[in-house]
Amino acid sequence: MAKKLFIPGPTDVSPDVFEQMSKPMIGHRGREFSILLEDCVENLKKLMFTENNIFVCPSSSTGLMEAAVRNCVKNRCLNVGNGAFSNRWHDITKANGKKADLLQLEWGQAPTPELIDEKLSAGNYDAITLVHNETSTGVTAPIYDITEVVKDYDVSFLVDTVSSMGGIRVEVDKLGIDVCLFGVQKAMALPAGLAVCSVSEKALEKAKSIEDRGYYFDFLTYLKYWGRKQTPTTGAISIMQGLRYQLDKILNKEGLENRFKRHKEMGSLCRKWAKKNFDILPEEKYASDTVSCIKNTKEINCKELKQELAEKGYVFANGYGKLADKTFRIAHMGDRTIDELKQYINTIDEILGF
Ligand SMILES: *Cc1c(COP(=O)(O)O)cnc(C)c1O
Repeated sequence: MAKKLFIPGPTDVSPDVFEQMSKPMIGHRGREFSILLEDCVENLKKLMFTENNIFVCPSSSTGLMEAAVRNCVKNRCLNVGNGAFSNRWHDITKANGKKADLLQLEWGQAPTPELIDEKLSAGNYDAITLVHNETSTGVTAPIYDITEVVKDYDVSFLVDTVSSMGGIRVEVDKLGIDVCLFGVQKAMALPAGLAVCSVSEKALEKAKSIEDRGYYFDFLTYLKYWGRKQTPTTGAISIMQGLRYQLDKILNKEGLENRFKRHKEMGSLCRKWAKKNFDILPEEKYASDTVSCIKNTKEINCKELKQELAEKGYVFANGYGKLADKTFRIAHMGDRTIDELKQYINTIDEILGF
């Protein structure tokens, strides 16, 4: 029997989505593919609240993190690091031969506008990377406040919304995000292997002046192919078929506002339980509505818990990297329901004797 995934990605995919993905294969240079791509892009714009160009790439999210710095960092980048994925972006920036500084915060801390302003004002940066929802620590950055300081600088605002897009509101145009990227295997509840980004006109213009943008993820190549409603390489056709269907479900069946509300409710339910029995890592106001990072204050044996939950049909997530033993995580994202989350928590209670 398939186990229910309570890990922060990949998340469970509904059977009706899988059904859409088992449609016959189509050629990627034909009309059907162009329609598929256009349908996806049209609804992705609604999901992301943007009029920017949208590129759909056969890749995991990390590929687009690389694409963002490769296409949009000219002189020097500021990487804001407060966990595994935001710190990974610093490594990616340097690995691509770009000059970069790291604003290192504690894992679990949220980046604040003040800290970012201080750093941006001191350096000569033309780009900044931010992870909106740091999955390793369960921290959601106050991006609506952060953008107020970022907009005072001439920088490309590169934002990872991998574990928030589709679960937490991110209004790309209102926030002035130049590149907003995510993979579809987290809050979008689709199989892994497809990543999406929006790219602003400003960023596309800038990319023209940047050398060595690479080949696979060159935004200007993506733009050129979009002119004929195609992608430069073979798309992840089956996942795109799933995406088209899932976007319609999200926007027209559940409704985006209801989806955000469901995630909010799951977040607060999980935190209430966590604070009663343990504690949460982030300050409450920055705690994520898609993933909770719980401090293992009772020093329970997570390995044993994981094993017992597996026997009951669940996949448990322990802490990430250096937080492995000190924390564990509960993902409440994608198509997960409030009832499923309650059942999971009750099962943990039973196992631990709470
Ligand atoms: C999962 C995750 C990534 C990496 O995603 P891949 O699709 O595995 O490349 C990057 N950033 C965040 C915030 C994530 O949660």
